[in-house]
Amino acid sequence: MKNFESRVDELRKKFEGALAGVNDDRALEDLRNEFLSRKRGHLTLFFDDLKALTPEERPVAGKLVNELKIQVQEALTTRQGKLATRVVTPDKADLTLPGEKLPWGAPHPLMLFQEEIENIFLAMGFSIAEGPEIETDYYNFEALNFPPHHPARDSWDTLYLGDDLLLRTHTSPMQIRVMEKFKPPIRIIIPGKVYRREAIDPTHLPMFCQVEGLLVDEGVTLAHLKGTLEHFLKTLLGDKIEIRFRPSFFPFTEPSAEVDISCILCRGKDPACPICGGTGWKELLGAGMVDPQVLKNVNIDPERYSGWAFGLGIERTAMFRYQIADMRIFYENDLRFTRQFSLK
Ligand SMILES: [Zn+2]
Repeated sequence: MKNFESRVDELRKKFEGALAGVNDDRALEDLRNEFLSRKRGHLTLFFDDLKALTPEERPVAGKLVNELKIQVQEALTTRQGKLATRVVTPDKADLTLPGEKLPWGAPHPLMLFQEEIENIFLAMGFSIAEGPEIETDYYNFEALNFPPHHPARDSWDTLYLGDDLLLRTHTSPMQIRVMEKFKPPIRIIIPGKVYRREAIDPTHLPMFCQVEGLLVDEGVTLAHLKGTLEHFLKTLLGDKIEIRFRPSFFPFTEPSAEVDISCILCRGKDPACPICGGTGWKELLGAGMVDPQVLKNVNIDPERYSGWAFGLGIERTAMFRYQIADMRIFYENDLRFTRQFSLK
């Protein structure tokens, strides 16, 4: 009888050891067969052995084997439950359940607006150029006629990454890169992100988007610049707007101009207008004839060729068109805002 008891104990340990190594349904089924199979299971064979015991020993031993059998059955059921929760096989998936609905993505409002600008210029025969956001001092300033210590450099509030590397403060470095690589005629627009050390407020962000235009060819005049910008701005903002050029200064254009458009909200009639402040005009972009020195810097003969360039802020222009007062809303990812824009 003692011998019988220790055999039951041994079998219990063997079962517990084997169960610890079971990691899938198949191993679990093998273990169940090994212990509980009606023909050759360890426990079945034990019940057979009871016949060899005395009538007094038999009920005690039978109880022991029965207890072990119940323990084995319960442990197998528990483990089966755990395996089923952990591994979901395709044939166990309930195909009658409704599917998970994934929301449609959409381009960001600023991307849509940028594409609209690009399409207007593509239709006029311009190409699109894109370039690095990390620039050297040479491309961002020097080649564009800002020599070292030029006072105009101060106004850019540049984010430097080292002595020579910086985050570009405007898309204009790409004018130089394009003119170095291609000879006139050149007709390009350059959309992209630019960086300045600005404090964040409703009309300033340290990162924003610009689009820049450049045309270089023989016989290019200010009249071409004016005509092109007028067509562009009226297509983008509506036929009714008026455009005016005001003299200004940029180191890389000469002469230079600020381009204003008439206020689409009050037309100059509301002294408290949030867009124009009652002046009737909104400054929208900077432009001018490419400075002959800039052309010389890229080995284009200024005696033969002339050109113009302009640049505008994409957020700023979108704010004007959609009458948005706070630029930050473009970057807050509030779906209540972004869902109001869609592809035309
Ligand atoms: Zn106004």
